[in-house]
Amino acid sequence: MKKLRVAVLGATGSIGDSTLAILAAHPEAYDVFALSGYHQLDKLLELCQKFIPERVCVPEASVDEFAKLLSDNHLNIDIVSGQQGLIDIATDRQTDVVVAAIVGAAGLPSTLAAAKAGKRILLANKEALVMAGQLMIDAVKSHQATLLPIDSEHNAIFQCLPAHIQAERSQIHEGCFGVRKLWLTASGGPFLNQSFEQMQQASIKEAVNHPNWSMGQKISVDSATMMNKGLELIEACYLFDLPEDKINVAIHPQSIIHSMVEYSDGSFLAQLGSPDMKTPIAHALAYPNRIDSGAQPLDLFALNALEFIKPDEQKFACLKLAREAMKSGNGATIVLNAANEIAVEAFLAGQLGLTQIAEINEQTLVSLPEMLPNHADIDDILAIDAKARQISQNLIAKAR
Ligand code: NDP
Ligand code: MG
Repeated sequence: MKKLRVAVLGATGSIGDSTLAILAAHPEAYDVFALSGYHQLDKLLELCQKFIPERVCVPEASVDEFAKLLSDNHLNIDIVSGQQGLIDIATDRQTDVVVAAIVGAAGLPSTLAAAKAGKRILLANKEALVMAGQLMIDAVKSHQATLLPIDSEHNAIFQCLPAHIQAERSQIHEGCFGVRKLWLTASGGPFLNQSFEQMQQASIKEAVNHPNWSMGQKISVDSATMMNKGLELIEACYLFDLPEDKINVAIHPQSIIHSMVEYSDGSFLAQLGSPDMKTPIAHALAYPNRIDSGAQPLDLFALNALEFIKPDEQKFACLKLAREAMKSGNGATIVLNAANEIAVEAFLAGQLGLTQIAEINEQTLVSLPEMLPNHADIDDILAIDAKARQISQNLIAKAR
């Protein structure tokens, strides 16, 4: 069988690590065609030494430095750079699979370009759907791309849909497949059992110390505020074409059930597994087949209880904001995502308290009740994103 050539965008991150571990374990099925990194050039060099890709993408400002690193190590690999470099890799004729694992809005242009080039996309970068959900879904349909979610919740839901629904998931909302609701599970993050007052005092170290999952810093902070579940709610609306009121969130502190589909006959289908991103990534890489992911098998007898708790939307205000933003429209979801990226950066820089992230997000949404024009393109989206970042930055400067 022909090997699939994989481009890993965001190769130096946490999803990049998990993806490359699977690719390394299956050299008979996959070739690493291209890699990208951003700040961690030393790690990117190590990955180049290990996988010998044909192309590598670095920020424009790092091209000379990285070219020297490659040549000092006798590696002959094409360097491309910046957003255009990511787009070139994502659309390269030789690329079969694009793993979209860049964090934040920076991942949108290359993910959208991959969709327009009809690629098989393994989507981790949820921000792309939060910002440009309809554009992405339309591009996937009109260019016959394949969009496979690797965010664990969405991958779980995808797995709980019968094969014919997986192929036609844009029609779920008409109820013709008997889907009543989707249930996104959430761990509740490190502050689940702490008061709002304790959360107000949270240090950076406490906030990124996730109880069950090991992830990049931004998504770890988003998990602590439950903004992550809010972004995932929006992601699920686009992926499965359902309104937000058909999607419930349940805190499930054990992170064993990764999400569920509730059917009209009363059946709930759930996907279970160890909390390890290698499982959803391997599922999407091999889909519709199955391969060994290297994840620790779930030890059912070691499990005690599986609990489900209704989230407190006063304490986790970001979750409520995401639901409201989804109800008001795509302009609001762009603003919320941008405000949140800036607020999380400020928190990680020690400039803002954890619970102030929701305040900044809400104030930015109030200051910029922007609507997207009909048939908005990526430039319209990026223009709203830029305005929201500016407002969020100004609000943070005032709050300090
Ligand atoms: P990390 O922070 O670990 O990695 C992010 C990757 O993006 C790194 O390769 C980083 O490069 C690169 N990057 C950062 N900024 C830029 C930029 N401006 N331009 C280009 N590349 C950039 O994040 P995660 O791997 O945790 O998450 C990646 C995405 O996957 C996020 O959207 C997240 O929400 C989603 N996701 C992650 C999960 C997880 O378990 N980690 C689970 C589900 C979804 P460098 O490190 O070299 O600076
Ligand atoms: Mg997730």
